[in-house]
Amino acid sequence: MKMKKIEWIILAAVVAVCAGLALFFYWPRSGDTVAVVSVDGTALYRIDLSRTARPYTFRIEEETGRPVSFEVADGRVRFVEVTCPDHICERTGWCGAPGERAVCMPNRTTLVCYERGELPPDDGVRWITESDHP
Ligand SMILES: [Zn+2]
Repeated sequence: MKMKKIEWIILAAVVAVCAGLALFFYWPRSGDTVAVVSVDGTALYRIDLSRTARPYTFRIEEETGRPVSFEVADGRVRFVEVTCPDHICERTGWCGAPGERAVCMPNRTTLVCYERGELPPDDGVRWITESDHP
């Protein structure tokens, strides 16, 4: 069976539309990601990853009992300078796309990235921005 030229064109168009839709739905949309820092399962801080014109770090210690720092740069965030025995959290590296996460089990601290529209409810969670950390 030989396909006519018009059939090839229709097939190519269908494939192109599907590929376009797939990209639209699954392509990580940078600039629309918010990271949430939780300790003991309670969300404490939100980091707006769409506003990271300048790299900065922030540190929590009261909440965990031991120093845990985060580095924010280029729309991504990672654990740095964490006081924990295994450093799995730091080895996980950067989180910048919705669904990406890093966990520090010894400090009961999690870092999870969300699409802005899919953030869990805001229960007095504090926003961290670079202006807080000159
Ligand atoms: Zn750790």
